Amino acid sequence: MRNLSGSEEVRKYTEICYKFECDCGKSTHSYTHLMAGGSHPSFGPWWCDECGQGYKGVWDKIANDYTITKAEKGIPGYLLLEIPPQKESIFIATKMLKQPMYDSPENFEESMHYYVEEGSCPSNFLSNTEDVRIGENTDPHGLLKFITFRPKGASDESPWIQAGIPQKT
Ligand SMILES: [Zn+2]
Repeated sequence: MRNLSGSEEVRKYTEICYKFECDCGKSTHSYTHLMAGGSHPSFGPWWCDECGQGYKGVWDKIANDYTITKAEKGIPGYLLLEIPPQKESIFIATKMLKQPMYDSPENFEESMHYYVEEGSCPSNFLSNTEDVRIGENTDPHGLLKFITFRPKGASDESPWIQAGIPQKT
């Protein structure tokens, strides 16, 4: 890993945030410790989401810093899930900021119908999901069915295609 000493930043008066970059160069980890007392004797293992490399750190009192070593690698990939056919509607609450430019409630409604139903990818909404309910069930365990875990391929091919799940075109 590469220490990004130039990006060391003071968060609070006595807390320092350190950053280091994964060997793959695609992700950065940060960790903090209190200058007075060093209350965090170790961290990790943490894994890079991009390449799977693990890192752990142990506080070294003499060096007054963490010694960071590599840990066993994980496998970055995709968790492929399915919502099987349902009898009832599935309601989803997602975070949203209502921007102030709408001049009437009708204008807002119309814009939202277009935005949600035509203009945006469903994955944009699902990534902001706060809550899911089916009918009166506000905690529908079992809604999702596990299909498979698929390690990231070398290509940019869709994880569904990589897993052999047929796609309509
Ligand atoms: Zn990495």
